[in-house]
Amino acid sequence: MAKRIKIKDLLNSTDFGQEATVMGWVKTFRNKQFIAINDGSTIKNIQAVVDFNSFDDSLLKRLTTGAAVSLTGEIVESLGKGQRIEIKVNTLEILGDSDAEKFPLQPKKHSLEFLREIAHLRFRTNTFNAVFKVRHALAYAVHKFFNDKGFLYLHTPIITASDAEGAGEMFRVSTIDPDHIPRNEDGTVNYKEDFFGKATNLTVSGQLEGELAAMAFGDIYTFGPTFRAENSNTTRHLAEFWMIEPEMAFYDLNDNMDLAEELLKYLISYALEHCADELEFLNSRLLEEEKQKPQADRSELDLLSKLKFCLENNFERITYTEAIQILRNSKPNQKKQFKYLIDSWGADLQSEHERFLVEKHFKKPVILIDYPADIKSFYMRLNEPDTEGRKTVRAMDILFPGIGEIIGGSQREERLDKLEKRMEEMHIPAEEMSWYLDTRRFGTAPHAGFGLGFERLVLFVTGMTNIRDVIPFPRTPKNAEF
Ligand code: ATP
Ligand code: MN
Repeated sequence: MAKRIKIKDLLNSTDFGQEATVMGWVKTFRNKQFIAINDGSTIKNIQAVVDFNSFDDSLLKRLTTGAAVSLTGEIVESLGKGQRIEIKVNTLEILGDSDAEKFPLQPKKHSLEFLREIAHLRFRTNTFNAVFKVRHALAYAVHKFFNDKGFLYLHTPIITASDAEGAGEMFRVSTIDPDHIPRNEDGTVNYKEDFFGKATNLTVSGQLEGELAAMAFGDIYTFGPTFRAENSNTTRHLAEFWMIEPEMAFYDLNDNMDLAEELLKYLISYALEHCADELEFLNSRLLEEEKQKPQADRSELDLLSKLKFCLENNFERITYTEAIQILRNSKPNQKKQFKYLIDSWGADLQSEHERFLVEKHFKKPVILIDYPADIKSFYMRLNEPDTEGRKTVRAMDILFPGIGEIIGGSQREERLDKLEKRMEEMHIPAEEMSWYLDTRRFGTAPHAGFGLGFERLVLFVTGMTNIRDVIPFPRTPKNAEF
């Protein structure tokens, strides 16, 4: 094909009088004269001007929204408002027609719900152009952050035989024919006949394998797909999502919190710096949306201010026990406005409680630590019992405004005897986890790590409100379209 210039580069060009070829998709065609073209390289369009006397009417008729075109013309300074540069078309070719009657994207505002149903085409809208540009930049920034710090990128398995993590319900992986299930004498499924010779699932977390590598490389991270068959139809849960899981040897919980806070701030500032146009667009989009809401429901800060606010303030660090105190005395608890009232120590925090702490009480990101052992995973390091004899673990959850939990992590239990005791209490078969326990048998060391849900991060940075709108093809209960 002819050599084309990307619109992003063209818009920055000063080669006035030179000829350039642009290829892209028609956004609008106005007054039989002005074509707005987008090629995805930037959220901005280039304006191409055609002299309708020099082109066949039948050709111009085909310049409909969505059509793919290739055009060559002279780069000129624009007289129009809102753009510096435009292209004066000499030759024009339609690469692919788009039937205006049938193309579902019209140059008007479509609802996000509608666009979700046509997720195969929604990339072509300004909103999704911006969202997925930001998503890309954040993914790149994750790797850059860890690479610059000397962390090793570890690929943990997608298919796993361990279900001990207990982070969520799992998807079974099997080649057994559901119409001819091999059975043991007692009627249970005989997984010896299955592909791997045992029951296997899609991973819910790469952490346990990550720990093994951290015990050799020191600092590692994973960044891969994660699967949870949890039937939670919320705006913050997906059945398939991407998770970033760093694991560090010789880290305690404070080191872990410092790294997590530094990472989140780095990623937010990377997006602010490298996605200025996209965030500007998303900011205005959100302001428009907020106008539809009653005053009381509108957020105090716009998107850009909210992102900057996160960079400029230290995250509030408090213990679970302190959080319970605050919640118990809070207005919504006293007035019985919480769906789940907080009356005693030990209760698991619901998202209404997390959001109260972040959005109403502290008004900034909060790191909650030292949760009751009973509501957390077996591998978290046990604290000395408190003055009232209550058992807590070195866990940390980072809570963000509008999102709730964005990171979950802990210092790990590195003491073999304590870990074995906890596993026994929680009915986790130690024989199957022997490989995991080996790290505690041979050169055990203090270590810590956390999991950052990538889509929750993208949700926060883009200001979108539904997690289905920040992953290209969302997988949720009863939905695996495209
Ligand atoms: P939640 O209580 O919100 O369901 P969790 O406690 O199950 O989260 P972890 O097991 O600690 O979460 O997972 C680490 C991180 O992965 C979470 O902090 C969150 O950012 C993200 N995450 C967890 N479950 C999902 C999901 N179903 N969809 C998208 N992201 C998720
Ligand atoms: Mn969950």
